[in-house]
Amino acid sequence: MSEADTALPALHDASLLRVDALLGGEWVSGPSRFAVHNPATGTHLADVTSGDADQARLMVEAAERALPSWRSRSARERGLLLSRWAQLLRQNADDLAQLMTAEQGKPLAEARGEVSYAASFLEWYAEEGKRVYGETIPSSDGNKRQWVWRQPVGVCAAITPWNFPLAMITRKVAPALAAGCTVMVKPAEQTPLTALACAELALRAGLPAGVLAVLPANADDSIAVGQVWCAHPGVRHLSFTGSTEVGRILMAQCAPTLKRLSMELGGHAPFIVFDDADLDSAVEGAVQAKYRNSGQTCISANRLLVQAGIHDAFVERLAERVAALHLGPGTQAGVQVGPVIDASALAKVKAHVDDALALGATARVGGQVRGDLGPTFFEPTLLVGVTPKMRCAVEETFGPVAPVLRFDTEAQALALANASEYGLAAYFYSRDIGRVIRLAEALEYGMVGVNTGLISSAELPFGGVKQSGFGREGGHHGLEEYLDTKLVCVGDVNA
Ligand code: NAP
Repeated sequence: MSEADTALPALHDASLLRVDALLGGEWVSGPSRFAVHNPATGTHLADVTSGDADQARLMVEAAERALPSWRSRSARERGLLLSRWAQLLRQNADDLAQLMTAEQGKPLAEARGEVSYAASFLEWYAEEGKRVYGETIPSSDGNKRQWVWRQPVGVCAAITPWNFPLAMITRKVAPALAAGCTVMVKPAEQTPLTALACAELALRAGLPAGVLAVLPANADDSIAVGQVWCAHPGVRHLSFTGSTEVGRILMAQCAPTLKRLSMELGGHAPFIVFDDADLDSAVEGAVQAKYRNSGQTCISANRLLVQAGIHDAFVERLAERVAALHLGPGTQAGVQVGPVIDASALAKVKAHVDDALALGATARVGGQVRGDLGPTFFEPTLLVGVTPKMRCAVEETFGPVAPVLRFDTEAQALALANASEYGLAAYFYSRDIGRVIRLAEALEYGMVGVNTGLISSAELPFGGVKQSGFGREGGHHGLEEYLDTKLVCVGDVNA
């Protein structure tokens, strides 16, 4: 292991490395610290303040204090600050990407892509916040006038995952701030450094004290912070991205205070390739939808359903592409697939592959842990002969493993695709226009990609159905989450 792999990355701007909580516009340390590690090497990166229940409470109070003046600014003023923050994200893209790769593992090129994606939410909502329109509703009583106004919900809390440590924050914070809400963020234990650097840039952009707070926490303290925010009557909205299991816990904790909720939860995306698909495009789409971020995205293609007539040709071409993917530390030039996040993620990926092999599948490419590269590397893997009984066909793998299931008819593909408790993203490849419409309508998913493996961007509503949650992020739909509807009915106007 080289020296370069063992230390924090050298940043152009060393002051982006923050290890304390952002509370009331100040960097504040807490009663304890937790260690952040580089998943590619296992080495220690930094010790970060672990927020506790007291800090969580203080943050709510600071956010409540900051709310009236933030809410009363014009949307244009708020938008200018969001735009300035986006600009700073782009100007500091190299440093942010270095931090992200160091703590999350993704290849540097993907990390830079995430910085741009994260900035795009700030840019988009800086403009969209100006379009929070109301309505005038004609009255059936000539003596009345009636309006519908949209107002910010108030103080919001956001709990985010490690797989997109920057974009999952701006995707929540940008619409909340644009709407006139104040926000507190708790990033994942594994990836606080990117979140804190992002907060430092928010301060430099001029966000007033208390409008944005960031509270890192270790896994135990996260539970305490979550309990405070969920139970606090001053917190009006909770937005969560993470596992379905934790989403259920948070929803139950929020029930007594009847908070508004956005739940972006787990997925189990089918990726269906029909006989009439464009083979090159389908193979490319499968590589993008499966191996990006080492398969650790909620919309990763988790099972490839391939029609019998194209099955062998598709597998052949995909196997060539997968075998050529370069696995290694994200900082190394040319690396396309990095490590998975930690030992338990690695164990799950291995268990899914072992289960499939034991039940009769074949590893056409990969299938092995690569301990020689670092503690949490798993080879980009292509499994064939997979059946619906195997774990990888029913559970979210969250790793670089593509299981291929063969089908004969469209009806079989649809039944397989919908036989999941999840309903986040689905993909299919076909050039039959009737099938495109028929299947897009019938798939029980919040998002359907047709002839593409890339479906998310700032202007589009991202979110799921069934056990993948509810609420939308992105697009004008994302802004709705942070707005209350108020009816104003004026009588006696002719008096
Ligand atoms: P996770 O274990 O649910 O954790 C997500 C966040 O919740 C982390 O910040 C975590 O903090 C926190 N957390 C965990 N338990 C908590 C509790 N009891 N109270 C308060 N906070 C708590 O999920 P993950 O493993 O990080 O992320 C992977 C999952 O997220 C996958 O299922 C994936 O599909 C899903 N995901 C969904 C979307 C989407 O948009 N639908 C996007 C990305 C990921 P600690 O890290 O400190 O435990």
